[in-house]
Amino acid sequence: MINEKKDTGCSYLTRDCPKCGTVNTNSPPLAYSWKQWKLKSCSLCGFVYLENPPGYEALVSEFAWERNHGDRSIRMKQEFPLTYNFSRVWKKFRRWLIRKPNKLAKRINLYFPPGPVVDIGCGVGDYLAGLPELYQPFGIEISEDLARQASERLSDRGGKVFSTSAIEGLSEIKKESMSGIIMRSFLEHEREPLILLGGAWSALSPGGAAIIKVPNYASLNRRLMGNRWCGFRFPGHVNYFTPESLREMVESVGFQIEKFSIIDHFYLSDNMWMVARKRNKI
Ligand SMILES: [Zn+2]
Repeated sequence: MINEKKDTGCSYLTRDCPKCGTVNTNSPPLAYSWKQWKLKSCSLCGFVYLENPPGYEALVSEFAWERNHGDRSIRMKQEFPLTYNFSRVWKKFRRWLIRKPNKLAKRINLYFPPGPVVDIGCGVGDYLAGLPELYQPFGIEISEDLARQASERLSDRGGKVFSTSAIEGLSEIKKESMSGIIMRSFLEHEREPLILLGGAWSALSPGGAAIIKVPNYASLNRRLMGNRWCGFRFPGHVNYFTPESLREMVESVGFQIEKFSIIDHFYLSDNMWMVARKRNKI
């Protein structure tokens, strides 16, 4: 259950465990919590989540993702200047040294049947604009400014961008109409992940697939870096998945896990990738 309350002009919510519904308001917050943002570990299932995320309307403007990501840099610079500078230099060096394969493009080609594809949290439509011709690009983007830019960009491909929350956007899409759904760095932001996954399942045509990329809370780096781990973003990241919890939640709405090998959730990586499919009707 989610209750909404107004606090100093900004709307905050109080969430029960988004995985199993347990009320954890009386449990102490985890040490990873920051400022007013309370991270809780569910007393029943152990799922880690932000108990008091901002309401959707605050996400549209006040905590828009593009700003929220900037906030992490400011926090790291102020609180951990050494780590911040080292990490910047290291990232530049690594980019120069290793040209990463495009994991998303590879998975789309392998697992999405031709047809319409929706990118949830599509930003300015960067990825959708480059999709191969056999896919029609659709997007959902809560930030009005980013959605407008994406719409302009994709108008010549015949797609559409819904400027709304992911759950609303999916409900506006015709049931069983999508060949593929992209949830790249998105599910960790969604305050009702099971409803969202259910909506994604409904929007997919039988045989269609969803690609999910989220930070891996079980990664070694989270244990080593603690508060400095790159997966902690307040208040943007509201769900902290482990390979087990992600698998359980995705399967619970009806998906079949198609690809989620040890390499896809390797403990040395900060992120994990999953491909889940909606079964064909028998
Ligand atoms: Zn729980």
